[in-house]
Amino acid sequence: MSRTLRCAMAICVLLPLCWPVAAQTGAAGSGVAPNGNTKSFVITGARIADGTGKPLRAANVRVENGRITKIGGFKPKKHESVLDATRLVLAPAFIDRHNHSDRGLGRNAPADSQISQGITTVLVGQDGGSAWPVSEFLDKLRKEPPQLNVASCVGHATIRRQVMGEDYKREATPEEVAKMAALVEQGMQDGAACLSSGLEYIVGSYASTSEVVQMARAAGKHGGFYISHIRDEANKTLESMRELIAIGEQGTLPVQNTHVKLGTMPVWGKAAEAVKLFDEARKRGVDVSADCYPYEAWSSNMRVLVPSKRWDDPVDVGQALKDYGGGKNLLVTEYRANPEYRGKTLEEIAKSRGISEVDLYIEMVKNGDGGVIGKSMIEDDIKVFYQWKWTMVSSDGGIGMRHPRGAGTYPRVLGRYVREKKWLTLEDAVRKMTSLPAWRLKLKDRGTIKKGYVADLVLFNPDTVIDNSTFEEPEKLSTGIEKVWVGGALVWSECAATGARPGQVLTPPQKK
Ligand SMILES: [Zn+2]
Repeated sequence: MSRTLRCAMAICVLLPLCWPVAAQTGAAGSGVAPNGNTKSFVITGARIADGTGKPLRAANVRVENGRITKIGGFKPKKHESVLDATRLVLAPAFIDRHNHSDRGLGRNAPADSQISQGITTVLVGQDGGSAWPVSEFLDKLRKEPPQLNVASCVGHATIRRQVMGEDYKREATPEEVAKMAALVEQGMQDGAACLSSGLEYIVGSYASTSEVVQMARAAGKHGGFYISHIRDEANKTLESMRELIAIGEQGTLPVQNTHVKLGTMPVWGKAAEAVKLFDEARKRGVDVSADCYPYEAWSSNMRVLVPSKRWDDPVDVGQALKDYGGGKNLLVTEYRANPEYRGKTLEEIAKSRGISEVDLYIEMVKNGDGGVIGKSMIEDDIKVFYQWKWTMVSSDGGIGMRHPRGAGTYPRVLGRYVREKKWLTLEDAVRKMTSLPAWRLKLKDRGTIKKGYVADLVLFNPDTVIDNSTFEEPEKLSTGIEKVWVGGALVWSECAATGARPGQVLTPPQKK
C-alpha cells in the first residue's frame, strides 16, 4: 500500500533538474511562518493556466516570501533555486467549495488525499453542519496549522439544534428564528464565510423557507453567501432550485446550489432546464452559482432516499427505490447493525436473504440507518452543469471519504472531462477550480497567477493527470499532480507529502 506505488513518478524522468524536496521543506520548515517559504525560487518552462480562463502561455514565475513576484520571460538570478517544469502546466492551486475534511482536520489527520489532488483551500462546515462555536474550530487550526488552507461555513442545522434542541421536528417560532439569526451573525463574526444548509437532511428539512431567508439575510449582512444542499435532489429538484433562488432574492445575498445534481430517473435530462432557471434568476439580479462533482453516483445516508420521511411505508419506499433505478444502484458503505452488508448493493443483500428490497430498506433504516452510494445521475446532465459558466468544481469529498470523489475529483475533471471527453478546455476547467471559487469566497489575493498574489500553486502534467480512486479503493491517490505549494511552501512533491504545514485559516472580509 505504499503511496509511491499509487502515484506515477513521472517528473524525475521528464525533468533534467529534479528539485530536491529537502531543500524546499527545509526552507518551509515545520512551524512555518504565516506566508510559508521565505526563500525565493523560480519555476521555468511551464505553460501557465492563470486561473482566469485565458489561453495557456509560456512564462517563468518567481515566488518570494510566499507570493508571486514576477511572471514573464525573465532569467533567474544567479544562485536562485530553479525548477524546470518543461511540459507541465502551472496553475493556481485548487479551491474546494464543498469539502468534508472538518473531522479529519480536527483530529489533525494528514490531508494527503486532498493536497495530492492539487487542493490547497477547503471550505468546510457544509450541508448545514458546522463546528460550533466556529471560533473554537478555527482557533485550533490556527494553533496547529494543517497542510492546506481552511475556510468554514456556519451551519443552519447546527444553529437550529442550538436553539431548538431535540424539539426540532417542527417549524421554528419567530422568537426562535430571531435567536438563530443572531447566532448566524455570531458565526460570521467568528470568521465563517457563509451559511450552509442541508434542507434534505432531517434537522434542516423542518425549516420553512422564511426561516432560512432570515438566517441567510443575517449571513448576507456580514458579506457572506448562502450555500445549500437543496431540499430535494430527486423528483422535486427543480422546485428546490426555485426555493434556493427565492432565498437569494428575499435574503439579498449570493446563493450557491452545491453539488448540483439530478438524482432520480424522472428528472434525468433536465439539466438545461435547471441552467435556464439559474440564468433567468441571474438576469433578475440574483447572484446564483453552482458547484458540481464529477461522478454519476452520490453518497449519503439511506433516509434521504424517501422524501416523505415515511421510511416504513412500503408504498413510499417502493416508489423511492424505483426512482433510483432499483436496489442495484444502491451500494451500502456503512451499516453498523451488520457490517457484512458493507460493499454490497441492496439488490444483492435482498436476494441473499430472500426478502424484497423494500422490506430490506425498511429494516435497515429501523435498525439505525446506514451509508449508501447511489449510482443515479447521468453524464449528459453533469456535462450541461459543468459547461454552465457559473459552475465550479467541488469534491463533496474530504479526508477519509468512502466515495472516490474524496481523493479523485480534480484530476478526474482534468483527465476525463478535459483531456478525454473535451467537455471543457483546460483553461476553463482551471478557472472553475480557482478564480471562480476565490471570487465567491472573496479571497482577493488567491485563485489567479498574478503578481502580488499568494503562491498557492499546482504543477501538473496535462497528458497524464488522472484519478485512480474507485468505489472499491476510494482512497487511491491520483497520477500527474507533480508539485503543490501553499503560500510558497512545498506541501506535495514526488508523490508524497513533504511534511510542511503552512495552511492558514481564511476568513473573508466582513461587510462594514
Ligand atoms: Zn450535501
